Amino acid sequence: MLVTGGGRGIGAATALLAGQRGYAVAVNYTSDATSATAVVERIRAGGGQALAVQADVSDEAQVLAMYARVDRELGPLTALVNNAGVVDSTQRLAEQSLARWQRMFAINVFGTLLCSREAVKRMSTKHGGQYGGGQGGAIVNLSSVAAQLGGAGQYVDYAAAKGAVDSFTRGLAREVATEGIRVNAVRPGVIETDIHASGGQPDRAQRMAGMIPMQRPGTAQEIAQAILWLLSNGASYATSAVLDVSGGR
Ligand code: NAP
Repeated sequence: MLVTGGGRGIGAATALLAGQRGYAVAVNYTSDATSATAVVERIRAGGGQALAVQADVSDEAQVLAMYARVDRELGPLTALVNNAGVVDSTQRLAEQSLARWQRMFAINVFGTLLCSREAVKRMSTKHGGQYGGGQGGAIVNLSSVAAQLGGAGQYVDYAAAKGAVDSFTRGLAREVATEGIRVNAVRPGVIETDIHASGGQPDRAQRMAGMIPMQRPGTAQEIAQAILWLLSNGASYATSAVLDVSGGR
């Protein structure tokens, strides 16, 4: 399994759970090598196989190099979690710059497309051979309830990027449905991770609690459980699904 942005937050919880379930896990990161290495060490300490691999998912050359290393060191890919994602500071559209939108879409959308393209080449029963794969597989994309709510007054660009992830999930799922690959998405609600601090609102998850029907933010582990289920054989008939895991939000 390859988990992009697997060193922290939802990605780290997913990589750790995958390690417990017997996957060999490639833990991708872009800048925080210490966190990614810690996740790898925890998986190895539990008897699992794992590898930390640096790449900016929005950079094609880095994504290709990451896949080459995963092919070499872990063998054929059977599962991809497109988890790497960013928000930005709270701004109304009128204040936002093109540079902000370019980064938002480069990481959240093009990163997901790039990593999925390389996964499909390896998993598809129509490809195979060249990459030693072709045995099928599963992909889970991280969307957000923001795709439905729109992010007004906060980050409409992030919400639009996640809307693109939803559309891409539905389309790719149907494109490869007869090639042994299932593609689904999870739409988390408000989850306690560092992402809120990175958007300048470290207390956002707790502040939002009263606006969530279950009256609390979710945990990264609760999202990881949904991701692992969608990747598992237990979800063998689920493809093109977009699953809200949001405490009702
Ligand atoms: P997080 O704690 O901020 O972690 C983000 C991860 O993404 C980090 O591991 C980071 O790598 C990685 N990353 C960022 N840019 C990257 C790039 N260009 N290339 C590769 N990796 C990159 O975020 P999170 O809350 O766990 O969110 C994970 C996903 O869930 C995101 O797609 C997010 O949009 C989505 N989501 C989160 C929430 C929430 O409330 N937390 C809600 C809805 C959806 P480094 O460790 O190297 O910095």
